Amino acid sequence: MSRAARHVPAITPVYRVALVSGANRGLGLEVARQLSEQGMTVLLGARDLDKGLLAARKLSGAAGEVIAVQLDVTRQDQIDTLARWIEITYGRLDVLVNNAGAHYDPAVRPATADIASARAAMDVHLFGSWRLSNALLPLMRRHGYGRIVNVSSGCGANATNSENAPAYRVSKSALNAYTRVLASELEGSGILVNAVCPGWVATDMGGPGGRPIADGAAGIVWAANLSDPHTGGFYRDGRPIAW
Ligand code: NDP
Repeated sequence: MSRAARHVPAITPVYRVALVSGANRGLGLEVARQLSEQGMTVLLGARDLDKGLLAARKLSGAAGEVIAVQLDVTRQDQIDTLARWIEITYGRLDVLVNNAGAHYDPAVRPATADIASARAAMDVHLFGSWRLSNALLPLMRRHGYGRIVNVSSGCGANATNSENAPAYRVSKSALNAYTRVLASELEGSGILVNAVCPGWVATDMGGPGGRPIADGAAGIVWAANLSDPHTGGFYRDGRPIAW
């Protein structure tokens, strides 16, 4: 074989920009770490920017750049400012991980639940993801590529019939429904929308006894890299689970 015939052209890696909400700790921080290790530029969303800057510093040295950005997913003004900044700075967004979460209420029961706290859970899990996706979809459509990963929970599966954590369960169930309708609208656009349950993970929210954070994050990162036209699915550890 001649020298010319053996020549393999260099493959230029695709430049990808990812945004992870609630990434100053827990699963979000680990997802940011794993995506940056893949070489993506990662925007590390934190509602307290100081916490975000400290978290981003922990990830310095990874293959991809990590930049802390202020992001409270209940604040439309912050989302609009961030979307505009991403457009001006990068002109693209390839991966959106709707991870920000809170309002786990295991001691509460539906019949005596405080509606204000249920509303707050919906505002973060459902409407936070919805606001952020709406603001960033135009940037994904521009390149005909996008991966939206909604970090959900088996608690939101329709088949579960526990009575505890009602605000958490109902809001994650709503996030699952939103995942399906958005995926349906975007079919054929190059933008895949999926929900992922990370399993029980030993974060501040999950508490001790859960599995390592890196294991829970891996299933989220898997969905952020899906190359098949799989959309509108609900996964744990890369395998489909029941809605
Ligand atoms: P943590 O409590 O460790 O982290 C939650 C993150 O969400 C923090 O960064 C927090 O910010 C952020 N956050 C909360 N509210 C907002 C908001 N309004 N805007 C922006 N960020 C916000 O939780 P986990 O890492 O465990 O949870 C991450 C996701 O995984 C959640 O959606 C959760 O429901 C889901 N999940 C977790 C499981 C587990 O076992 N851990 C199981 C199933 C699902 P701050 O530091 O400012 O509070």
